[in-house]
Amino acid sequence: MFNALLLDQTDGKTTAAIRQLEVADLPVGEVLVDIAYSSLNYKDGLAVTGTGKIIRSFPMVPGIDFAGTVVESASDRFQPGDAVILTGWGVGERFWGGYAQKARVKADWLVAMPAGLDAHKAMTIGTAGLTAMLCVMTLEEAGVQPSSGKVLVTGAAGGVGSVAVQLLAQRGYHVVAVTGRPETHEFLGKLGAKEFIARETMLQPARPLESQCWAGAVDVAGGSILARVLAEMDYGGAVAACGLANSHELHTTVMPFILRNVSLRGVDSVSCPLSRRTQAWEHLAAELPESAYADLGKVIALADVPQAARDIVAGKVQGRILVDPNL
Ligand code: NDP
Repeated sequence: MFNALLLDQTDGKTTAAIRQLEVADLPVGEVLVDIAYSSLNYKDGLAVTGTGKIIRSFPMVPGIDFAGTVVESASDRFQPGDAVILTGWGVGERFWGGYAQKARVKADWLVAMPAGLDAHKAMTIGTAGLTAMLCVMTLEEAGVQPSSGKVLVTGAAGGVGSVAVQLLAQRGYHVVAVTGRPETHEFLGKLGAKEFIARETMLQPARPLESQCWAGAVDVAGGSILARVLAEMDYGGAVAACGLANSHELHTTVMPFILRNVSLRGVDSVSCPLSRRTQAWEHLAAELPESAYADLGKVIALADVPQAARDIVAGKVQGRILVDPNL
């Protein structure tokens, strides 16, 4: 028997409870994993609180990522004892996820733990951190370099934002952090942010073109914040857009694209091909300083997940939250 947080739905309301399951209850799959850590991402917050239509079939074990050790494997790629990471692929949405002591998944969804990381470090990074790294890679593929100018990170005190601040600062960028919480300035300064802009400022409606401020931007917000970011980009600048913390809508004009050669690039971590996600994990393992893991993450138990889920949806979480199903 093992513990899992199980979501159910009654009268359209999502409920969460810790249940004891048997391995035989797990869905079919090639690899059985003992989970050491999962993490809490914005999407998990929506799923556990039932705020967003993330989960359509119940009962469901949420948790869109996990790291642990292979127990059984029907795949040549993995042997019992191998350390592995899973993020995305609909796990914790359409397939049972990481808020449990065990999971059974497809081998193709797993990434071998890169040298230099362990389960705790991998889930301090988690889906949010992987997405941050994919955003940094995307900006550099668009030609953005530390010498190009300042880079902006929106939703900076959240999961994706805080890791993006740390990674960009580590690569030598002058990072400007947008946050709605002035009390996080000290935390963000420790991660490497050099300047701060209030979220309210970025929410102001933008003209089609504003003064040029940013060589690159990582945007987790969407909505009017992304519209303003686009209007403020330098000539030839690039924006990596990965989130919708403000809104899924985007009302803008073509002016930044056709007069300033600005590019808007989408970033998805869920179906990101294995070769690219492996590359991203290797960069993360090599680049994040040891101090980042202590600065970024805090650990909670399965029983704490419902409250933490409400907090992340309310925008109250700072950095990353790890979930230890064995606590
Ligand atoms: P978090 O909740 O940890 O961070 C989001 C941050 O956005 C908050 O901490 C807050 O930062 C800011 N924020 C909150 N509400 C608003 C608002 N109404 N308007 C503007 N800013 C706001 O979430 P994650 O970092 O896990 O995820 C961020 C976004 O990225 C989400 O939309 C998520 O769905 C998306 N995402 C996308 C992925 C992909 O593959 N494309 C993968 C992972 C996440 P502050 O307090 O500093 O202002």
